[in-house]
Amino acid sequence: MAKENVLVIEDEEDIAELIRFNLTQDGYRVRVAASGESGLAEAARETPDVVLLDLMLPSTDGLEVCRRIKTDTRTSAVPIIMVTARGEEADVVSGLELGADDYVTKPFSPRVLVARMRAVLRRRRERA
Ligand code: CA
Repeated sequence: MAKENVLVIEDEEDIAELIRFNLTQDGYRVRVAASGESGLAEAARETPDVVLLDLMLPSTDGLEVCRRIKTDTRTSAVPIIMVTARGEEADVVSGLELGADDYVTKPFSPRVLVARMRAVLRRRRERA
């Protein structure tokens, strides 16, 4: 089975690399975008199977990215997992209300992140 294509929108290079390394080890195809705008452009260029979305991004923040992915008919069905820092509970609630599927809090265990992502993808397949 072809592995899913994951879009990581994260401006912190070390976190993006940690995610990329772990997902690539698991056989996923991973693209990294370092800003909200480049993330949206990547999502439009090739629809991802799942988006891992940092909330604290320069200029276009994660909530705006989430809103735009969920309101664009090409990407509205793409599951989003938010990657948040502690103290962003209000943003997590807003993100879930905007249609995000799950979240992990930094610092996160890469194994937990991968497991959450698998669960979201599995639920998506079961609904399809
Ligand atoms: Ca960030």
